[in-house]
Amino acid sequence: MEDAANAAAAGSSGQIVIAGAGYAGLHVALRLTAKLRSSPQMELTLVDRNDYHLALTELPRVAGGTRAADAVRIPLQDMLAKRVRFVQTEISGFDLAGRRLLTGAGPIGWGRLVLALGSRPNDFAIPGLAQRALSLYSAGDAEQVWAAVGQALTAAAAAADPERQRRLATVVIGGGGATGVELAGELAETMPQVASGHGLAPDRPAVVLVEAGPALLAGSSPQLIDKATRILSDLGVEVRTNAVIAAATEEGFRLKDGHLVEGGVFVWAGGLKAPDLVADSDLPTGHNGRVKVDQYLRVLDHPDIYAAGDLASVTDPRTGHVLPSLAQVALEEGETVARNLGAELSGRPLEAFTFHDKGFVVSVGPRRGVADIAGITSGGHLAHLLKDAIEWEYRQSVKHLRGWDPVAR
Ligand SMILES: Cc1cc2nc3c(=O)[nH]c(=O)nc-3n(C[C@H](O)[C@H](O)[C@H](O)COP(=O)(O)OP(=O)(O)OC[C@H]3O[C@@H](n4cnc5c(N)ncnc54)[C@H](O)[C@@H]3O)c2cc1C
Repeated sequence: MEDAANAAAAGSSGQIVIAGAGYAGLHVALRLTAKLRSSPQMELTLVDRNDYHLALTELPRVAGGTRAADAVRIPLQDMLAKRVRFVQTEISGFDLAGRRLLTGAGPIGWGRLVLALGSRPNDFAIPGLAQRALSLYSAGDAEQVWAAVGQALTAAAAAADPERQRRLATVVIGGGGATGVELAGELAETMPQVASGHGLAPDRPAVVLVEAGPALLAGSSPQLIDKATRILSDLGVEVRTNAVIAAATEEGFRLKDGHLVEGGVFVWAGGLKAPDLVADSDLPTGHNGRVKVDQYLRVLDHPDIYAAGDLASVTDPRTGHVLPSLAQVALEEGETVARNLGAELSGRPLEAFTFHDKGFVVSVGPRRGVADIAGITSGGHLAHLLKDAIEWEYRQSVKHLRGWDPVAR
């Protein structure tokens, strides 16, 4: 732990600016509001390009047509206390020496900055991928995927040739991580019904999940992977592992071994990287452009800047691995950042970040799922209910935190 004198010396003047109102940034804002009650002079500013908090973890449901896009956009004005100044604008860069965030609304000076800008899809420079494949990182993206599926099924219904019908009615997903698995499951359950509505045989649509590695859900337990693979197979999803996409062309995904995976809709869910504006800054970055931080989540050599969420490269000392890009990780990091900012204000020692893994849950279609909690693997309806419960609990906790400090509202 850093000693109190040191933390106080780091200074607490000026305003606290939080860049990004996602899982990490919103959590810092909500937690800090109450902590700042005894520091009325301290300004708290939250900056985001959107005036809503996006429930990213629910996007596969929007893309699979089982949830409306508006349901995953949670208005920030319903969540923030009055003392949080919200600025809706695009952040374009950083003036590190001048301690200013550069934005479309003009520069915003910080005493302390929290960087929580999330991540962007990473196409690993695979030729044609960015142009040919849709991604799944905003509510608009998810709506686009569902609209493309509808258009492909309409085109398939109008085609006379069964081969062409089959090709048009096939969705190909690149990347067998949690997002790819969730999307494949949703579409495999919903597409047959939509196909029937178009006069197509319910077995005409198909979903192909293409994964470069030897198994889906890399890093998960073999039991969880096995259960997820079985559910997908039961839903008729064709899983192709050890299938490296070398290029995306008009015809489809061309694999490294020369095979062509054809389809009517292509979605890329195969990787993430830090936003370009961070990768292009002078901040210390590591793998995939993520920002390097110390144990207190302060950016290396920049004690006035904290980073949290997908953007931060945080190594778990117990495993030696960088923590994965997960909402759960972002929330815990946000909590530590809020506590450390509070500690700086009151001259208390900073707290080192420790990740408390609560388990891993993935939905596989709108009715089933898989979960690894406390070393126990489950699969089926219960695991799906668990995922629903986690999402419900998250929304409740946000409401609870909003109401946490009635004085400040
Ligand atoms: C489809 C999908 C499904 C997922 N499912 C799960 C799941 O089931 N469980 C799980 O634990 N994790 C899941 N994740 C991962 C999880 O959503 C992320 O780890 C989490 O969102 C990271 O939080 P964050 O605060 O770092 O970033 P985000 O939540 O992405 O927030 C970043 C914020 O910064 C804003 N922003 C970014 N750039 C700018 C800019 N230049 N100017 C202004 N504002 C900007 C954005 O608008 C956004 O509000 C999923 C991710 C995706 C894409």
